[in-house]
Amino acid sequence: MSDVGGTWAGTHQFVAAEVFVATTIVEAQEAVRRAASTGTRVRALGTRHSFTDLADSSGTLVTVTGIAPDPVIDEAAMTVTVGAGVAYGNLATWLESQGFALHNMGSLPHISVAGAVATGTHGSGVKNGSLATAVAALEYVDARGEVMSLARGDKDFEALVVGLGAYGIVTRITLDIQPSYAMRQDVYSGLPWETLLADVDAVVGAGYSVSLFTTWAELSLEQVWVKSRVDASTPLVPATWLGATRLTTPTNLVGGDPAALTEQLGAEGRWLDRLPHFRLENTPSNGDEIQTEYFVPLASAAEALAAVQTHASAIAPHLLVTELRTVAADELWLSGAFERETLAIHFTWRNSPAQVRMVLPLIEAALEPFAARPHWGKLHLFDGVDIERVTPMLGAAREVFERLDPTGMFSNDHLERLWLRVPRDDAPAADTTP
Ligand SMILES: Cc1cc2nc3c(=O)[nH]c(=O)nc-3n(C[C@H](O)[C@H](O)[C@H](O)COP(=O)(O)OP(=O)(O)OC[C@H]3O[C@@H](n4cnc5c(N)ncnc54)[C@H](O)[C@@H]3O)c2cc1C
Repeated sequence: MSDVGGTWAGTHQFVAAEVFVATTIVEAQEAVRRAASTGTRVRALGTRHSFTDLADSSGTLVTVTGIAPDPVIDEAAMTVTVGAGVAYGNLATWLESQGFALHNMGSLPHISVAGAVATGTHGSGVKNGSLATAVAALEYVDARGEVMSLARGDKDFEALVVGLGAYGIVTRITLDIQPSYAMRQDVYSGLPWETLLADVDAVVGAGYSVSLFTTWAELSLEQVWVKSRVDASTPLVPATWLGATRLTTPTNLVGGDPAALTEQLGAEGRWLDRLPHFRLENTPSNGDEIQTEYFVPLASAAEALAAVQTHASAIAPHLLVTELRTVAADELWLSGAFERETLAIHFTWRNSPAQVRMVLPLIEAALEPFAARPHWGKLHLFDGVDIERVTPMLGAAREVFERLDPTGMFSNDHLERLWLRVPRDDAPAADTTP
């Protein structure tokens, strides 16, 4: 039994023999060379916020979170280059101190940039691509232990950005930046479901980043969080909107402490204090939950939501909350938003693995007509056949991974199950995700 520990939520215990915390890029290279010389596997680990055996390895896990971020801004290119293991919140704090900003952030600022980008992690906003779309260039340690770099426009770039650690260990990453901006966050309660389904675009387009929260069971959505940039184009924020009411007292969704959330109620503040849902200084060490998320075309949002809603009574007992967000289309081969404007349907479940696994088939069958894609980092029941059906560039991406890593050093059981890597005889231990 490995003593490497598990994912942040404890949903998977890693089978890898050890975690090597590299403090320099050279140390990361040496770890890969050691593995190559002993014929063992190696795999990048971020901040463990995925929910399955995705990041696991039958050999060694290498994390670059111990490498100093050493951020460098290129004002002409409007980019920042930074150690890939940096947490978004720490990078954002430093960028703000220099007068710059990112285009978007995920809900939790504690997640590593490399790990988030590798799975296509996203925030919300119809015009906002996933966090991976901000990647302008990256450097990685390849299967030989060499440091390679590539930039937007280079061969293989679209295959490697959302790369699931399948070809190497990303050590430095270059992200697009923009001048710092201010935001406000307003919360509406009681948006009728029928209003949403009648005009999804009007609701999700109400702000720079819009998140809808529901437990599926009620006639109205519990809350809509509208995050707006405070500039000349800032929309008015009416007290009532589409039948929903703007909240004037602090709230939380699942009975937690409102103090853990970034400030709401329309107070203006820095982009990094409004885009994430959770405060950086409120460090959640772990979570008693399981997460699942599916991406469907935004054009089919109403039909897809109605299809899930037919299972509301099966979903509700096991659900903490669902969040609905949007992601702009992109060209990254393994992105959940590849070539389609996307509605992301997320479920935060109670930590009851058996019950969750009984509900997922209902949701996956309901969303199959919409070619739903699962979030790579969250729990789903797709196999290789399912992934191939909804991932047009799966075969092409697999070919790139196999070319760059011909012996499968960076492969694992998870990637092979989903046909992201070619199965090999030395496949590691089976998935122990509950
Ligand atoms: C509380 C919480 C909130 C979340 N919020 C969001 C959200 O708002 N939006 C969203 O889309 N997702 C969200 N997620 C999911 C999360 O963003 C993804 O699972 C993300 O991949 C986790 O990053 P990590 O650094 O923890 O990576 P890990 O879970 O450690 O690893 C994930 C993958 O990234 C690869 N990887 C990690 N580091 C590197 C590297 N240096 N080089 C190459 N590959 C690497 C690993 O090999 C693995 O394949 C959330 C998860 C949690 C627990």
